Amino acid sequence: MYDYLVVGAGLYGSVVAHEAARRGKKVLVLDRRAHIGGNVYTEEIDEIHVHKYGAHIFHTNDKEVWDYVNQFARFNRFTNSPVANFHGELYSLPFNMYTFNKMWGVVTPEEALAKIEEQRKEAGITVPSNLEEQAIHLVGTDIYEKLIKGYTEKQWGRPCRELPAFIIKRLPVRLTFDNNYFNAQYQGIPIGGYTKMVSRMLDGIEVRLNTDYLEEKERWNQSARRVIYTGPIDEFYGYQLGALQYRSVRFETERLAIPNFQGNAAVNYTDAETPWTRIIEHKWFEFGKDADGKEIPHTVISREYSSEWQPGGEPYYPVNDESNEALYRRYRAMAEKEEKVVFGGRLGEYKYYDMDAVIASALAFCKKSWS
Ligand code: UDP
Repeated sequence: MYDYLVVGAGLYGSVVAHEAARRGKKVLVLDRRAHIGGNVYTEEIDEIHVHKYGAHIFHTNDKEVWDYVNQFARFNRFTNSPVANFHGELYSLPFNMYTFNKMWGVVTPEEALAKIEEQRKEAGITVPSNLEEQAIHLVGTDIYEKLIKGYTEKQWGRPCRELPAFIIKRLPVRLTFDNNYFNAQYQGIPIGGYTKMVSRMLDGIEVRLNTDYLEEKERWNQSARRVIYTGPIDEFYGYQLGALQYRSVRFETERLAIPNFQGNAAVNYTDAETPWTRIIEHKWFEFGKDADGKEIPHTVISREYSSEWQPGGEPYYPVNDESNEALYRRYRAMAEKEEKVVFGGRLGEYKYYDMDAVIASALAFCKKSWS
């Protein structure tokens, strides 16, 4: 009999498992995949840590979370500064003075602000009610048309007018020359990769991979006093109220015998015509160097293609629009009645969580359970 059965070896599950084990609880972690780490999993290909399920850049303003992850890894000083490619025109991200200068030729913050205000007024938006209106309200029509609309509609497979405004608010808008994509005090990539960091969290804990809890849910539930489930909440209930929508991502990963493909970790293709959303060149997360600090002579890139999640596929992003939120609330009500099972993480809570927020949420659960 286990004290805790943790379903899913991603960040939420690994933090809870670590904290439980640290307090002397008997813990078993299951994952249906062949590896730990969930979607933060990195795999080494020819000395390069490849982010197999998309780029993960750790960033947080939460000192407690930063100190927490630093127990398990050292972090490098990587700062995310993606470049937008619109039909071969390059722009700095997030939206800042470099972007405004390239778009409009404006030089001062005052001129940039005047341009945004002029376009905002022309569009006549006072209270933005969807992603399109929110984007125009924040940065004006030109930037919306060239850097947001195409990317967003490929990424989400829905018109910007039908998407929630909060998604675009993830991106800072700055009247300074600052290409740092995040407004976070702490940022970096774990040296040696995320998989190593998660394996340290799970050190000494029993983990069974290639094991699908849902195939024998009742039997597994008998084996533990409590179950921490971090898979999709709708799948837990056999989709009985209907399926929640998710976006999935397909990666085309290639090793190239050249040292530098695009000169940056992330290039976003913001036009509607290019079929991929972005290309990640993984070596730049670690400054193009191997573990001994030597320049790596080759490179690995991944093109990301976004698609609607289908049963059997991998869910990545919850689509938090009104109809999905309404369905989620019904599943949530069922989950709250569970005596043994607790739901957590991006899939368990159907929430567009960043890594730091997942860890904060897992630590909050631990505090509540054991303080
Ligand atoms: N986005 C955009 N253009 C870009 C980058 C992002 O319009 O070049 C929008 C898009 O709607 C995206 C959202 O901003 O879904 C959030 O971007 P973020 O980089 O946070 O997405 P993630 O890295 O989580 O996929």
